[in-house]
Amino acid sequence: MKIVTNSKLLRVLQLFKLQASWVEAMAFNETIYFKNEIVESILPHEGCHICQQREHGLINFLYIYFWRERNIHYSYKKFEKKAYKIKSVADLIKLYPEYPDVYNLIEKTLKR
Ligand SMILES: [Zn+2]
Repeated sequence: MKIVTNSKLLRVLQLFKLQASWVEAMAFNETIYFKNEIVESILPHEGCHICQQREHGLINFLYIYFWRERNIHYSYKKFEKKAYKIKSVADLIKLYPEYPDVYNLIEKTLKR
């Protein structure tokens, strides 16, 4: 797992309207992409999405998020409702103790 800042991928997705313009970060395939610098307050949330993608498998995650729930508002999507409950590294550890590399990297990044 890694963290990327000033992400070209996220900017391109937003340019083509494949991602909302207000989105500051996204988690995809073991990487958290930030549009600009790291936004510490949303790191645990994005870390949760990394864990969800591992738990369900990336393809299945994308299928549920973008197809099965395509008509469901962002904040009501199954994965977002769960991720919005994650406010800290402690919350992430409680929910996903099986993925220490995720919460360790986030904790390390927050302490920098
Ligand atoms: Zn989210």
